Amino acid sequence: MSEVVAPGDVIGKAEEYLPGENVDVDKDGNLIAQVMGVVIRDNKEHVISIKPLKGNGLLKINDIVYGKVVAIPNDKVVIVRILGVDDNGNKVLLKDDITGIVPPSQLLNGKSSNASDLVGIGDVVRARVISRGPPYTLTLKDAQLGVVHARCPRCGHELVWRGGEILRCPNCGATVRRKVSLSEYWV
Ligand SMILES: [Zn+2]
Repeated sequence: MSEVVAPGDVIGKAEEYLPGENVDVDKDGNLIAQVMGVVIRDNKEHVISIKPLKGNGLLKINDIVYGKVVAIPNDKVVIVRILGVDDNGNKVLLKDDITGIVPPSQLLNGKSSNASDLVGIGDVVRARVISRGPPYTLTLKDAQLGVVHARCPRCGHELVWRGGEILRCPNCGATVRRKVSLSEYWV
């Protein structure tokens, strides 16, 4: 069982362990976690350290993330709840909700368009982090970025990719246009 701690958590006493990576000692001799992560106890060397988790504040510029579109204010800006991050090809779920924002300039290369022509509320998108955060600024501009999962706006069934920018509902036959990620689509 891995023990996950948050910054500021007391994880032990200085007489039990020496502070290792990402651990500090306060004036009362408590060992304090400095980052969110998993506690590593080296009982041979009596060192306690924390392996950081990707979580709040720990996404890096150029990280590929997956998130759900939660709002499209003024049909210009796309607000994303970031759910996971790509870690060397593995999708790692984040512990906490992190907000990402796709500004109009990061929606599509060279074309001005309404955001709702490219993504829909509830869609899962693959995006790239381009600022420190939270909130993080995301881009959807590259061909490999965009919608990876969407549901039918009419009946709620999962949409399937028909090639290009077209998704189709196998249940009711509706088609919708999306900026689909060329690197993956989940149905
Ligand atoms: Zn449908």
